[in-house]
Amino acid sequence: LATGKPLLVTGGAGFIGSNFVLDMVKSGVAVVNLDKLTYAGNPANLAAIQGSPLYTFVQGDICDAELVSELMRQHKPSAVVHFAAESHVDRSIAGPEAFLKTNIDGTFTLLQAARAYYATLEGAEKDAFRFLHVSTDEVYGTLKPEDPAFHEGTPYAPNSPYAASKASSDFLARAWFHTYKLPVLITNCSNNYGMFQFPEKLIPLMITHALSGKPLPIYGDGQQIRDWLFVGDHCSAIAAVLEKGRIGETYNVGGGNQRSNLQVVHTLCALLDELVPESPYKPHTQLITYVTDRPGHDRRYAIDARKLEGEIGWRAQESFETGMRKTVQWYLANKAWVENVTSGAYQQWMTQNYAGR
Ligand code: NAD
Repeated sequence: LATGKPLLVTGGAGFIGSNFVLDMVKSGVAVVNLDKLTYAGNPANLAAIQGSPLYTFVQGDICDAELVSELMRQHKPSAVVHFAAESHVDRSIAGPEAFLKTNIDGTFTLLQAARAYYATLEGAEKDAFRFLHVSTDEVYGTLKPEDPAFHEGTPYAPNSPYAASKASSDFLARAWFHTYKLPVLITNCSNNYGMFQFPEKLIPLMITHALSGKPLPIYGDGQQIRDWLFVGDHCSAIAAVLEKGRIGETYNVGGGNQRSNLQVVHTLCALLDELVPESPYKPHTQLITYVTDRPGHDRRYAIDARKLEGEIGWRAQESFETGMRKTVQWYLANKAWVENVTSGAYQQWMTQNYAGR
């Protein structure tokens, strides 16, 4: 991927985007990172590459057509890797507008700009250009216990406003390939966890609550199953698809780690009992508390990643156990990061939406 031309990454100050940008820059690939810095974006995630000649940060909105076109003209990216999104299901239930704006309008704006830019390319640069749209397995809806895992041909059946907005953006990306021949790639990944994940999502929420002795809120019966993937493995899958994926294709990304939410929280509690032996809250499982389920909560997601593994040779490097241990260790070592991102606007949102939890 080190072509001398940068990747234009959107949403690179968020959880997965920042892990991807760090990996790329550290391996010698130049990156221009366009991020609006919503509550979920944090330039501190990228402190390790601040000042690197390979890294350029631009604060801005993917819905700003003028800006995204200008960035493509100015930086002449070898590819666009599109992470920017509103990404939290609970927030999409409380206020879907921002999800439609960023996830649908924003993707449309980027696709249009990429299409105009692609038309200006010639020869090897044109052949090499890719638009990689990062998406989620939530577009496929929910599985029954006996159903096979989601594969690339599973019909779309999104159930939350978040999933519906991502499904819409996937369809736009698909259409820009079929209609305009833009060299699009789409990845649909299962739930990620790891460093720099905003503490509103299950795993960091539970870690940060447990460390301060707050209740660990489990939705409903806690038997909702997700297929967990360490963020570094998602990033390596994206890099692999960018290099070797067939244009116009979709690749499902997952690590084959189906766990119920309750199992995940028990694993975290056991790790915290071990890694924080002086904690006054041991055993941390005593903090578990059951709360009203999320409306329309999908019961089970599972990913069949055989296309990615077979065609491209990608493999997840972390098991659920090793990835979770690394994650807990990272949150323990980075309490200042957590305090920084959970101050201000985040506290207000939590008070309004999670009162009593
Ligand atoms: P995140 O919420 O942590 O980060 C999103 C980033 O996008 C933030 O830095 C935010 O500032 C930026 N952003 C939001 N709106 C923007 C706009 N209008 N213009 C420019 N930047 C904007 O999200 P994440 O968990 O890192 O997810 C990244 C992508 O991966 C999303 O597209 C998401 O749908 C997808 N995905 C996430 C998961 C997961 O488990 N987190 C799994 C599969 C796919």
